[in-house]
Amino acid sequence: MSERVVIVGAGHAGISTAFELREAGFAGPVVVLDQAGHEPYERPPLSKAWLAGAVSTGELAFRGPEVYARRRIELRTGVRVSAIDRGPREVVTADGARLPYDHLVLATGARPRALPVPGAGLAGVHRLHTLADALALRAALDGARALAIVGGGFIGLEVAAAARKRGVPTTVVEAAPRLMRRVVSEPVSAFYHRLHEEAGCVIRTEAAVGALTGEDGHVTGVRLADGATVPADMVVAGIGVVPETGLAGAAGLATGDGVLVDEALRTSDPAVFAVGDCARFPLGEAMVRLESVQNAADQGRAVAAAITGDARPYRDVPWFWTDQHGCKLQIAGIATGADEWAVVGDVQERRFTVLCWRRGALVAGESVNRPADHLALRRLIAAKASISPAAARAGGFTLKDHARSLAG
Ligand SMILES: Cc1cc2nc3c(=O)[nH]c(=O)nc-3n(C[C@H](O)[C@H](O)[C@H](O)COP(=O)(O)OP(=O)(O)OC[C@H]3O[C@@H](n4cnc5c(N)ncnc54)[C@H](O)[C@@H]3O)c2cc1C
Repeated sequence: MSERVVIVGAGHAGISTAFELREAGFAGPVVVLDQAGHEPYERPPLSKAWLAGAVSTGELAFRGPEVYARRRIELRTGVRVSAIDRGPREVVTADGARLPYDHLVLATGARPRALPVPGAGLAGVHRLHTLADALALRAALDGARALAIVGGGFIGLEVAAAARKRGVPTTVVEAAPRLMRRVVSEPVSAFYHRLHEEAGCVIRTEAAVGALTGEDGHVTGVRLADGATVPADMVVAGIGVVPETGLAGAAGLATGDGVLVDEALRTSDPAVFAVGDCARFPLGEAMVRLESVQNAADQGRAVAAAITGDARPYRDVPWFWTDQHGCKLQIAGIATGADEWAVVGDVQERRFTVLCWRRGALVAGESVNRPADHLALRRLIAAKASISPAAARAGGFTLKDHARSLAG
């Protein structure tokens, strides 16, 4: 009897795992279960091209239904897994059915963090995680008179850009001293701050939200901790996500801001893996949890390799992107804890790269409208290339030349 893989979650991570299993030659049954009642789709365009009207809803689907059938991937949508019974190796679905597995892959993703303030449940308060959220948000934007966005991270700022494009008066309220602080260096924060202000967006940093105000059950504004109120008939909360660890935790697997996994993405039970937004894994000296398509897709490939007997430590260089006001930011590596940086290129021309070092090692690079730099950086960081800040600041420096010299 061939082994069966059951995957919980049909997002980027779950679907990548399924297809990569077939690529790796896995011949047994592959079953993907998802509580959502529709075909798997891409989330990134929801806050970018789709919201701007440049991509249709039909174009969001990962693949046509016939492709799943052709690769013998059994996709069951509208099925919520309510428990894992690790003794007999079975998952239990909400209707009480039991499905046996030899290998189980948790790809349950994350859910948006709820605004922890009074008024968060008022009508007119939106979040953006699913297609249903996006449809509601886009419809509301059409009639919005004043939009307040709580959270100056990727999603909040992408929505701000789309709203300004439609002419909606928009204010971004961010508790930290600068935009996207968790993920980018100071020069990049400052660049995007200016860009949004130039597009007519009001940005309020170091502004903690105390409550949402309302009238007749509908939101009327955002009251800040300092007592000021930002009037708004529409609010979008973009304050991050919380990993979906409920199933794993209830089954006695180790969790802690994510399902804890080892370098091969195995949980504390070797028959169970976790991938994508829900997984917390070792990367260098730290345990990290990443929320990106690259991470979800590459971890799917790594787990497929492990299941087919080719387990290797997952050490892929993380990369991320965002699109705001036509300025595409691509990030290679993780800049957390960086203590030095250098700017290469021309900030005024909106084409530059910020290189980030931590304790003398190049750890990340953030490229604005410089895709070739981004590709070079992914190679350089993977190779642990040594580039000094002084060399990067010298005239004539190019990342492409350095990446080329790796091959030589
Ligand atoms: C608006 C938006 C824009 C984004 N933009 C970018 C971007 O530009 N670049 C980038 O790299 N990343 C972006 N991301 C993040 C990226 O989409 C996620 O990192 C990625 O989708 C994670 O994939 P995943 O498979 O781990 O989780 P998810 O895509 O969240 O999928 C998890 C799935 O598991 C299902 N599930 C959970 N629990 C159960 C259960 N008990 N039973 C059955 N099914 C269950 C859920 O229904 C869900 O479909 C964006 C995200 C959003 C929301």
